[in-house]
Amino acid sequence: EVVVVGSLNMDLVVRTPRHPVPGETLLGHGFATTPGGKGANQAVAAARLGAATAMVGCLGDDTHGRALRDNLSQQGICHQAVRTSAAGATGVAMIQVDDASQNSIVVIPGSNAELTPDDVDAAEALLASAKLVVCQLEVPLETVCRALERARAHGATTLLNAAPAMALPGELLALVDWLVVNESEAEALSGCPVADPDQAARAIARLQALGCRRVLITLGAQGVVAGLESGLHHAPARPVAAVDTTGAGDTFVGAFAAALARGAEVATALQEGQAAAAIAVTRPGAQAAIPHRHELPPVTP
Ligand code: ADP
Repeated sequence: EVVVVGSLNMDLVVRTPRHPVPGETLLGHGFATTPGGKGANQAVAAARLGAATAMVGCLGDDTHGRALRDNLSQQGICHQAVRTSAAGATGVAMIQVDDASQNSIVVIPGSNAELTPDDVDAAEALLASAKLVVCQLEVPLETVCRALERARAHGATTLLNAAPAMALPGELLALVDWLVVNESEAEALSGCPVADPDQAARAIARLQALGCRRVLITLGAQGVVAGLESGLHHAPARPVAAVDTTGAGDTFVGAFAAALARGAEVATALQEGQAAAAIAVTRPGAQAAIPHRHELPPVTP
């Protein structure tokens, strides 16, 4: 089973012809509320790709919180370890998209910031049954640390998607079996520029020197560079006509995790992760774009 310890947000998406300047009021032409948050997105991807999936998280006692919990139910994700906090409002992301598809985003963590190490301890039984524990950085760092520690103690494999980008203490990196980062996150962690597979290889060497055993750097349409015990591998992305790359990384992480949890070879898991992400970028939306396992093309040896 895959356990995701992470964020749940309601995405409030506003469409406008252009971005307003400070002090300006502008008429927009579209509004939608959709479930999001890196944690929830990755849980949805893992579940759609066939893994028994549970989430540890924190919602507010409000309409967004109830809608996000219903969404987890509908996706078949266990949410017993998702707490409802009386204190805070559910996390939201205000996403403004203009007619040129440029977006600007403000995230208010809200109740995600209230997910504590105690919540992780309360989910001990869940972590004990997990094959793979997946974290991101949209909940407090001490909570991520506890989740990785407890997962290790129970013999689960740990995966950290170090997003959003920030520098991390070495003790935390030492608890990570799989570090998955995109270009900007890899730059923030390694201090190296990362724009192509060669630069990614150099960043991986740096990250491995910091104690990360296996590192995956996702490079958008350039695919993934993997630093494994067996050396460096570059897996190209599937060529597709991308329409909306929101959630590409989350789809990759969730699909990769689902494959590993099933016991798939790393090469197969990389292929499935990228195949799922390539489908997701051809469809609009974040969670809405994540494919089901039956939509993946057959794995090639
Ligand atoms: P993030 O969403 O975190 O920035 P990336 O943009 O690196 O992550 O995308 C993650 C993965 O999604 C890539 O490694 C690749 O497999 C797939 N992907 C992203 N963009 C494209 C694209 N334009 N064409 C095909 N695959 C893509």
